[in-house]
Amino acid sequence: MFIDLPTLAPDPLWGLNAVFQGDPRAEKINLVIGVYRDDQGVTPTMQVVRDAERELVSEGASKAYRPLVGNQAFNDGMAQLLLGEASPHLGKQHTIQTVGATGALRLLGDLVARANSEATVWSTDPAYVNHRPLMETAGLRVRNYRWREQDGRFDIDAALDDLAQARAGDVILLHGCCHNPTGIDLPADRWAAIAELCNQRGLIPFVDTAYQGFGDGLDEDALGLRLLVDRVETVLISASCSKNMGLYCERTGTATVVSANGAMLEKVPRMLEHLTRSNYSVPPEHGAAIAIKVFEKSQAWRAELEAMRCRIVELRNLLADALQRKNAPAHMLAIRQHKGMFSTLKLSAESMERLRREFAVYGTDSGRLNIAGLRFSQIDQLAEALSEVAT
Ligand code: PMP
Repeated sequence: MFIDLPTLAPDPLWGLNAVFQGDPRAEKINLVIGVYRDDQGVTPTMQVVRDAERELVSEGASKAYRPLVGNQAFNDGMAQLLLGEASPHLGKQHTIQTVGATGALRLLGDLVARANSEATVWSTDPAYVNHRPLMETAGLRVRNYRWREQDGRFDIDAALDDLAQARAGDVILLHGCCHNPTGIDLPADRWAAIAELCNQRGLIPFVDTAYQGFGDGLDEDALGLRLLVDRVETVLISASCSKNMGLYCERTGTATVVSANGAMLEKVPRMLEHLTRSNYSVPPEHGAAIAIKVFEKSQAWRAELEAMRCRIVELRNLLADALQRKNAPAHMLAIRQHKGMFSTLKLSAESMERLRREFAVYGTDSGRLNIAGLRFSQIDQLAEALSEVAT
């Protein structure tokens, strides 16, 4: 019967990565896949994670199944990280451990679909590549709202214009910080406009937080989310430990529903457990057990994370300086203001192909570059290549 399945193209990102691996040129630069790398080109395991793992091995805890909600101490720690340690909303939220933020996005999509199969999810344009597939697989309709800059500033009017078509019960998918793929974040004062829109029109904000600590700092990167939670009755949150703890392959994250409506919140835990039980049953323990220890070693973790964040900021500044020296067009200099790992430059698929062919620089065809994958020694080469293909 599988013979009747449609033939699908390979995933373009991983396909491009494979082409990079086969490129014999020594000077090649890989800015495709969204992982942080150090100056040796390695995605490091954080020292605090190594220490945590050593302790876990020596403790030799049982591998027996954990509850459907996952590791409760981890869930509590994540809720505090997201909402703030002294948040009045702690306890008015339900958090469940998930298979990364990807698992959380899908689970919350499933939850929305169970409650309102007519809901449309509004996702940014351009969007994180997996947002649409995740929401559509949950059975939801997806539409886009514009996420772009105008005169170097976030153009909230374009976003609000598009969102004016949203109907009560629809969901607005937002990136908590470090927007993937553009690096353009909503300025602090603009989150209030989103909250107001949600309240006026009965929309539910769904904040996807995959890079907390990579933009301006752990608490700073949660300010928008916290403002929404203060002002809007119900907020959905997917969160990831892939980047800020470097736990990528451990698949560690949470799904959270915050609601001031106690009767509604009461319905949530059993439904979430029902949805995960009929999918993968219980989430994997190892990453959550590490994360609990990372929370305990808070100072060491924050210092390591801050060093990664500062490295990305420095790479951005030095690259913008180099682009300026090479008289690159002004729009490229926005790399300096962008937050987190990614920037999307105004480069056509042809220019991106030229970058690969002539300069051995690999980014996605949409113009996305993973700045956090760059080495300091590669900055001049990249600036030269970008100014050559720029229009
Ligand atoms: N959301 C966004 C915006 C992402 O960029 C990513 C990928 N890092 C994810 C979710 C998925 O994260 P995870 O590895 O935790 O599944």
